[in-house]
Amino acid sequence: MKKIFVLVICVLLFVQTCFCWGFYAHKQINYYAVFLLPPEMTAFYKKHISFLADHAVDPDKRRYAIADEGPRHFIDIDHYGSPPYDSLPRSWDGAVKKYGEDSLIKYGIGPWWINKVQGRLTKAFIEKNTQQILKLSADIGHYLGDAHVPLHASSNHNGQQTNQQGIHGFWESRIPELFAATSFDFIIGRAAYLDKTQDFIWQRVLESALAADTVLKMEKLISEKVPADQKFAFEDRNGLIVRQYATRFTSRYHQALNGMVERRMRQSIYAVASFWYTAWVNAGQPDLSLFSDPAFSTIDRADWDSLNVQWQKDKLKGRSCE
Ligand SMILES: [Zn+2]
Repeated sequence: MKKIFVLVICVLLFVQTCFCWGFYAHKQINYYAVFLLPPEMTAFYKKHISFLADHAVDPDKRRYAIADEGPRHFIDIDHYGSPPYDSLPRSWDGAVKKYGEDSLIKYGIGPWWINKVQGRLTKAFIEKNTQQILKLSADIGHYLGDAHVPLHASSNHNGQQTNQQGIHGFWESRIPELFAATSFDFIIGRAAYLDKTQDFIWQRVLESALAADTVLKMEKLISEKVPADQKFAFEDRNGLIVRQYATRFTSRYHQALNGMVERRMRQSIYAVASFWYTAWVNAGQPDLSLFSDPAFSTIDRADWDSLNVQWQKDKLKGRSCE
């Protein structure tokens, strides 16, 4: 009995504190992005598709192990006024000059960090460094995915300002886990070359910020119509019976959002493939068939092991995603 009680408490904490596309969605985004690539890149990326999917969640595992990691996943853009937030310089140097680095870090640096990782990925292609290409491809897939989540662009990131705690994981974990496999369409066109990756990602972040209001409003509207005891239910999650948003309630919310979660997942997939493709083009389109297989070092493997250990501990404390 005590064990069950502890489990329920852990899961409740989890539902309230997960601030990232769920692990499931992140893995799907990196996985499906591979199929948008041009033929010159497809063989290489397909060969490593499991790595790219598995490691799509490394940045979230790092969040509690590395102090600098957290701010890379979001930006509280509403801190900078109202849409389109013109007072916020889009360049890092301009923003630092205006607000100072400490303040920027406090309110999240997601869009700028994506550009930094993109630069590193381009360099890895130039240097034909297979390990770095794979690690950075997986990482940037994660950060791009996060930038497409409306509540990653809002200071009310878990509904804490509007008494809607838990809505973050509800939108980005519960909905994809329930509906992606059976009803989301991930057949998307082709990756595009992006002239200005920085402009592209700011545009996506603005879209996220504008959608945050709907994410919150719809949940509130449906909650007012559904009896409180039907909002949550003890249901199966990955083989465990846990208290979470009830399937029927989730379905109503998903319908009210009119496909928003699917749309943002599709746009994430397109963005990830396009950033990979753009990095490769900017590196001079190296022949990937000549690249060696990755030789991950024992240090890499030890890092992943320790991240997993830390993540498992945080999961038990209800602090990390799954
Ligand atoms: Zn994240």
